Amino acid sequence: MSHSRGRLYVISGPSGTGKGTICKEILKDIGNEFSVSMTTREPREGELHGREYFFVSHEEFTENISKNNFLEYATVFDNYYGTPKDIVLKKLDKGRNVILDIDVQGGLQVREAMPEAVLIFLLPPSLAELRRRLENRGTETPEKIEKRLSKAVDEIKFIGEYDYMVINNDLETAVDNVRSIMKAEASRIPEKVLPIIRQYEQEQKGE
Ligand code: ADP
Ligand code: 5GP
Repeated sequence: MSHSRGRLYVISGPSGTGKGTICKEILKDIGNEFSVSMTTREPREGELHGREYFFVSHEEFTENISKNNFLEYATVFDNYYGTPKDIVLKKLDKGRNVILDIDVQGGLQVREAMPEAVLIFLLPPSLAELRRRLENRGTETPEKIEKRLSKAVDEIKFIGEYDYMVINNDLETAVDNVRSIMKAEASRIPEKVLPIIRQYEQEQKGE
């Protein structure tokens, strides 16, 4: 079969749950690509422009909003974050699966814009463990950690809007579960099956 369009995966869940860690593993698999978001937040130590995020000014971000350049965008923890639309669409057209690590507000916007997207919600084993992970990561001030923890339960309330949930207790098991979801989704019969039927008809006719 000629290559089909890639699938769009959204991974959401409270900050500190392990989205970035799990995405890193999933991205080792051939055919998966990360969507680098644009943000107005400051880079953390070790983060690179164009790798973790495109770090831009407030002006540059709002200019992109007005040009309708985002598949979705939202204000998260006082900063703008958004998914560049063209880059994602090009990757999907090339048959790559595109992984978005975005918050729940963004996930819901993607569901509206591209209903065929697969939405995975990542859960921490408990709030106490979430706190430990945020503290151990050491990237946030205590005040910012409290903010992220208080948003966690609000985000979890949206889990019903997602297609799958994965609990990130043991990392290897969680990665395995995400991979299983992706494997199953690769075999899902798409809503629009006509192109597939046509392809076999053409082959039968020897075209
Ligand atoms: P997020 O991207 O959701 O904010 P991260 O991937 O940065 O979360 O993970 C937060 C912290 O938790 C990191 O220090 C990471 O190494 C750690 N972590 C991730 N998954 C697990 C796990 N299953 N068990 C223990 N620690 C984990
Ligand atoms: P962090 O600042 O820890 O990198 O990310 C904070 C939150 O913003 C995380 O929940 C992350 O998933 C989310 N996020 C990252 N990029 C985007 C994006 O492009 N759009 C939206 N809506 N959220 C994003």
